[in-house]
Amino acid sequence: MASPERFLMCPPDLYEVDYVINPWMEGNIHKSSREMAIQQWRGLHQILQKRAEVEQIAPQPGLPDMVFTANAGVAVGRRCVLSRFLYRERQGEEEHFKHWFKKHGFEVFELPADLPFEGAGDALLDRAGACLWAGYGFRSELDSHPYLARWLDIEVLSLRLIDPRFYHLDTCFCPLEGGWLIYYPQAFDAYSNRLIEQRVPANKRIAIGEADAVRFACNAVNIGRNIVVNETSAELQERLASAGFQAIQTPLNEFIKSGGAAKCLTLRLTEPEPPRTKSATTVQSRELNLEGHLLDSGLLDRALELTVQSGGSFQILHFNLGKQRQSTSKAEIKISGPSEEILDKIMGQMIELGAVVPGREEVDAELKPVTRMGVAPDDFFATTIYPTEVRVGGHWWRVQDQRMDGVIVVDEKQKLARCTLFRYLRAGEQVVTGSRGVRTIRKTESRDVRGSAQAEHEFSFMGAGVSSERRVELLVDQIAWEMHRIREQRGKIIVVPGPVVVHTGGAEHLAWLVREGYVQALLGGNAIAVHDIEQALLGTSLGVDLKLGTSVEGGHRHHLKAINIIRGCGGIAPAVEQGVLTSGIFFECARVGVPFLLAGSIRDDGPLPETQMDLITAQEEYSRLLKGADLILMLSSMLHSIGVGNMTPSGVRLVCVDINPAVVTKLSDRGSIESVGVVTDVGLFLNLLVQRLRKFETERQAV
Ligand code: NAD
Repeated sequence: MASPERFLMCPPDLYEVDYVINPWMEGNIHKSSREMAIQQWRGLHQILQKRAEVEQIAPQPGLPDMVFTANAGVAVGRRCVLSRFLYRERQGEEEHFKHWFKKHGFEVFELPADLPFEGAGDALLDRAGACLWAGYGFRSELDSHPYLARWLDIEVLSLRLIDPRFYHLDTCFCPLEGGWLIYYPQAFDAYSNRLIEQRVPANKRIAIGEADAVRFACNAVNIGRNIVVNETSAELQERLASAGFQAIQTPLNEFIKSGGAAKCLTLRLTEPEPPRTKSATTVQSRELNLEGHLLDSGLLDRALELTVQSGGSFQILHFNLGKQRQSTSKAEIKISGPSEEILDKIMGQMIELGAVVPGREEVDAELKPVTRMGVAPDDFFATTIYPTEVRVGGHWWRVQDQRMDGVIVVDEKQKLARCTLFRYLRAGEQVVTGSRGVRTIRKTESRDVRGSAQAEHEFSFMGAGVSSERRVELLVDQIAWEMHRIREQRGKIIVVPGPVVVHTGGAEHLAWLVREGYVQALLGGNAIAVHDIEQALLGTSLGVDLKLGTSVEGGHRHHLKAINIIRGCGGIAPAVEQGVLTSGIFFECARVGVPFLLAGSIRDDGPLPETQMDLITAQEEYSRLLKGADLILMLSSMLHSIGVGNMTPSGVRLVCVDINPAVVTKLSDRGSIESVGVVTDVGLFLNLLVQRLRKFETERQAV
């Protein structure tokens, strides 16, 4: 029966698996049977011919994949957007398809060079012609979608593919007559699944499982109520039947060796003209600049990887490679996202990496008012440790009180932008939202700074990273040197110790550091003080005699005894004044006048009178004591170290000592050159550190 439908096919006379450009081709090079392929192709051709007109294009030598005509382009009405193949292996097909389309009266649109788009493989019309579903992620670029919308006058809905086996949209998605859809949800990211669910009602979505998906059940040709397909499970056939469709199966396994089946072998030429004036796409793009040691620091790689992982795509508009060892590189990048929301998220991440929006695209930061006390507007900009600026009224203002995981409040009257926490937000305050008009200033991790005379006194080895055990001695040397220098210059060193310091015999060394003026404030929990005091009063730490290394009879109650004694005295300082506490870290703090803050936690015994159980006050006190710090020594307390890390802006040297590499990595991986991790026993570390500092002092006295 004659039908208005028309398809384009290409006989498989020259078909074979000649190269590998998708996971299906792996292991199949020259393994397909030409004879069998011809037989299978004829089977499909006959089925289609009974229901539609089938045109043919002649196969060309050296282009074995030309048989997959779905990738020739996408044709809507008399207009056709020609493919721009991603892989060189298929690019030769373009001119043959272009010639064919022109000869057959199509108006042909060609995308800019280097903007991949693989035709109807990645562009599927809703069967009512209302919109075009367009795939990206493996072959076609997201940036091709706005062209499709414009040239075809249609609404384009972008879907991101995430499973390399389903590299083209038509391998996992098939719109059917009457608004039905067969698809494999696992092939898409969460955003795309949401979009599909918004646009296709639940009762019309036929989600299939992996077993059918890998048999290319979605790679189907829908003509009326017929669905021509390689193979489907009985269950899927039933589901299709209850939706009023009949599956016509025809074996195409020779073509699956190349990653294609029924739909890939055909191109529909009779897609209806969409209703005019509906051109639309949610794809958004913005430009940004990145500068620094982009290649050797891995910054560019990280930026591009983040973009793709977050569902965006990129185009490097210009790249200026620094030619000398010292010189930096510059990249101008165009970032695209399938929606404003996703693009904003990506831009936020780029700004964290230090990306700058070029001058011509600069706009003011978007401010939204706080409507409920303590609650920020939905799309607030979350701060990092890096110095940040916001653009207000055409001027860049430096954000005060920089810290991580805060929000930025702008006071236009006072001309002030500052970092704050949710809990301090008051109704009516203006909060920076989105990522426009915000920039962070990242110090270039440059070799020139590391190599210069001025930098001789810096931790020259301090790339953000974790030391191996072998490097510990060298690291301690450098840390000791820096602490020595800070003390000479009357700088500020903060120590954040955990109770392990005491258990590992480090208390006497930390007490020495306090006594000798190497500590300007101490931040910890109840436990460090309890165990230090237990040791000072009773000679044990958690009931273990540290000198003998053995448990003392009834010693498990020693820490409670210690707490009780201090409570009896009214606190640590009174216990020192009363001559009850005469040694240890906290004795030295009280004697020398080093401020300390003990922040409470759920597992605290006692607690000691000084332990601040109101955590908001404790956080405020921590942050007050941290102001102006030059170096923070974090000694085996994950809880307090991470808390301190979040409050500390970049530029402060951060040394994290822990036996667990994961804790050290978490703390030193702030992407900042000032942080270093030392994976070692904290008792050994402190012992070594004090030895080195003593050596410096002896040497100084000898001069
Ligand atoms: P934490 O889990 O936050 O940190 C302990 C860290 O020490 C871990 O990261 C671990 O890897 C590391 N560590 C273990 N052995 C080490 C070694 N030999 N050398 C170097 N690092 C080593 O626990 P925390 O800071 O001990 O305690 C969390 C909270 O619980 C604190 O607020 C603390 O005051 C409280 N606490 C209270 C009591 C008490 O009141 N009796 C007792 C214990 C803990």
